[in-house]
Amino acid sequence: MLILNSPEVTQETCLRWKRESPIAFVPTMGCLHDGHLALVQRAKELAPKVVVSIFVNPLQFGPNEDFEKYPRVFEEDCRKLESMGVDLLFHPSVKDLYPDGFSTKISVGEIANRLCGAFRPGHFDGVATVVLKLFEITSCDYAVFGEKDFQQLTVIQQITRDFNLPVCVIPFPTVRADDQVALSSRNSYLSSSEREAAQKIPQALSAARKEALSNPHQTVGELLNKITPELSREGLKIQYLEITQSRRLLPTRPEERLESLSQPHLFVAVYAGSTRLIDNVSLNSGQ
Ligand code: AMP
Repeated sequence: MLILNSPEVTQETCLRWKRESPIAFVPTMGCLHDGHLALVQRAKELAPKVVVSIFVNPLQFGPNEDFEKYPRVFEEDCRKLESMGVDLLFHPSVKDLYPDGFSTKISVGEIANRLCGAFRPGHFDGVATVVLKLFEITSCDYAVFGEKDFQQLTVIQQITRDFNLPVCVIPFPTVRADDQVALSSRNSYLSSSEREAAQKIPQALSAARKEALSNPHQTVGELLNKITPELSREGLKIQYLEITQSRRLLPTRPEERLESLSQPHLFVAVYAGSTRLIDNVSLNSGQ
């Protein structure tokens, strides 16, 4: 596995490879778990050359967020990626990607201001900016993104359409631990009691999905009222709990009936102690 930190050398290498074969790309912030590795496995099925990036992107962290303490375990990550047969690991420093004089940023617009974006101003602009750079550097034909971060996936699909990027964005379902908690690098922050409390999240989402499918005549407000108590106890604090509709994750009103929505989707962000956890589930019968 090649390990490169220079954007220029990575770009040259990928452009050379691309003449011979397609490239599949998996961007990450490292501290890799089985969710990331499942994305890498999917990338291997998509193209003969697989590129992974590890970069904790300061542009997508707010001033009071966990940029400094975000877990960094580079050696361990390298071993995992090497054993999966990844061709290139791109691991730039902040200065490599944002040298002095860097100034252009993407403004994603409306979708970036809702759900997580309402609580993390600038987050998705930061994500979009780094992902556009990474797409340009890797010349990837495919890029795999997890549905664990469903709004992020939607933002990437939006910028890919808006900027006519020649990249096929491939969604990958959320990978969960045995207790159904979505795998996340941030789970390492949880104490054992917080981890236990976190199990309420997938339980509430799966109960909500069952409820929605068995009684689509109920309203958005009724369903949210049923699951709010599930998430409000056991040491969790809800930041937001929302049902959206359409692939653009449009807001819904409490009085709207679930059956009248196209592609209803439930999103949640909760705090377990000081750790913010997100999860989501489709309320659509087809998925
Ligand atoms: P991160 O390192 O958290 O930025 O995540 C890198 C990629 O892995 C993103 O596309 C995430 O959506 C995806 N990812 C993270 N956790 C999971 C998971 N539990 N299941 C599937 N994909 C995931």
